[in-house]
Amino acid sequence: MKNYELLVDRIAKSSGLSREEVVLKVEAKKAKLSGLISKEGAAQIIAAELGISFEEEDLKISELIGGLRKVNVIGKVMNIFPIREFEKNDRKGRVANFILADETGSTRVVLWDTNHIGLIEDGRIKVGDVVEIRNGSTRDSEIHLSSFGELKKSKIVMNAIKNAPAVSEGTLEEARQGMSVKVRGVVVQVFQPRFYFVCPTCNKKVVASDDGKFKCAEHGKIEKKDKAILNFVLDDGTESMRVVMFSDQIKALVPEEDLADEVKSAAFRDEFIGTEIYLSGRVNRNQLFNNLEIVASGIERVDVEKLITELDGKD
Ligand SMILES: [Zn+2]
Repeated sequence: MKNYELLVDRIAKSSGLSREEVVLKVEAKKAKLSGLISKEGAAQIIAAELGISFEEEDLKISELIGGLRKVNVIGKVMNIFPIREFEKNDRKGRVANFILADETGSTRVVLWDTNHIGLIEDGRIKVGDVVEIRNGSTRDSEIHLSSFGELKKSKIVMNAIKNAPAVSEGTLEEARQGMSVKVRGVVVQVFQPRFYFVCPTCNKKVVASDDGKFKCAEHGKIEKKDKAILNFVLDDGTESMRVVMFSDQIKALVPEEDLADEVKSAAFRDEFIGTEIYLSGRVNRNQLFNNLEIVASGIERVDVEKLITELDGKD
């Protein structure tokens, strides 16, 4: 929620409204949208309605939200990833990524311009350097830099850095778009499972044709196989976040066919609520709700007995 507090401060400062007035506006907006958006999202809308732009301002990393243009940020390079090559529509390109941190947090910077990538490649910009980014744009909280952007070394000395590394055992509060996370939390809400259908041979998604039969593009008419998607809300004490779980993760918790059975499905959901789990996954933006969610890649129940034994062993 720190991000939200900063946004409210900025809106109050730029609009001349009091913090309380801004908060009331945000809450009214959120209520009007039936709570479907986060507080940050609602604050962003209020800012836009008040004509407040965050463009061309120096921002702290924790203030970055999606959709900003001409963003300026100063931070320290914490980690540089290998340069990747990609091919899109017969066009070959290269992209570089690094983690940038300041005293408020860290984020990923994505470089699309060959000159910028060159700075990384030949070591003119390396881990530990303080860099200045001008004219970046944001996708969620990531900074993207095209050839219109600027990347250069800064003479500013930065000591107090808050580096929430890209892959970490962390908190939901620190979760950012694109991050891989491992968190420990309690399941506080479980939704009804949804189902989709796949071809039993190639596992690709299939849809019913006009005659009600299912057809795979490769294997023709097939007997569909049901696959479940299960959403739940995890709370780790710092924040609660929606988690999406597909077949592979579901199977680790419950036989998938049980979810198709109304009684067994309800029993599983009752049992799953309140359980403590370790969750690994990737943080993604849900386009429909415009909030962050985690796509699970691993779920494990916290074995309290085992933890106690381990703790005893340390004495
Ligand atoms: Zn198939």
